[in-house]
Amino acid sequence: MSDFDGNVNCDTHGNSNATFICQHLASGEGLGFNLGYDPDNPDELCPDAWCNKCEEVLDTEGEWNDKSEAFADIKVMCEHCYEEIRDKNWIQDDNVYHNLVTESFAFIEPRHKVFLEKYNVGAHSHDFDHRFSSALIT
Ligand SMILES: [Zn+2]
Ligand SMILES: [Zn+2]
Repeated sequence: MSDFDGNVNCDTHGNSNATFICQHLASGEGLGFNLGYDPDNPDELCPDAWCNKCEEVLDTEGEWNDKSEAFADIKVMCEHCYEEIRDKNWIQDDNVYHNLVTESFAFIEPRHKVFLEKYNVGAHSHDFDHRFSSALIT
């Protein structure tokens, strides 16, 4: 990591900004998409992301520590791969979403709100993936 400059060279997309996601999202679908919200960098388009299983471990541990980080085994992704993975794992079905909430996933909701508010506002000024933003505004 010592001379990591924030870029990755993706086999598919070429040189691109680096993003960080858990190992499960890297190869999964429909796993849920939880975002790390950095108050110092609220305009970040691709915050660190992890699946609902990782969120469970994180919630149990209370923080990112050796155990939760080992479980997530965070991977570096190019920002374009990140967008594809976000589309695949974001749970948009309202019924599924509400089931998850009743199964004690309610703590996810404030983060989703932050994310939605952020991108509803930011959609005007950012070069944002329009497929994704229109899918969210229902
Ligand atoms: Zn995960
Ligand atoms: Zn890529």
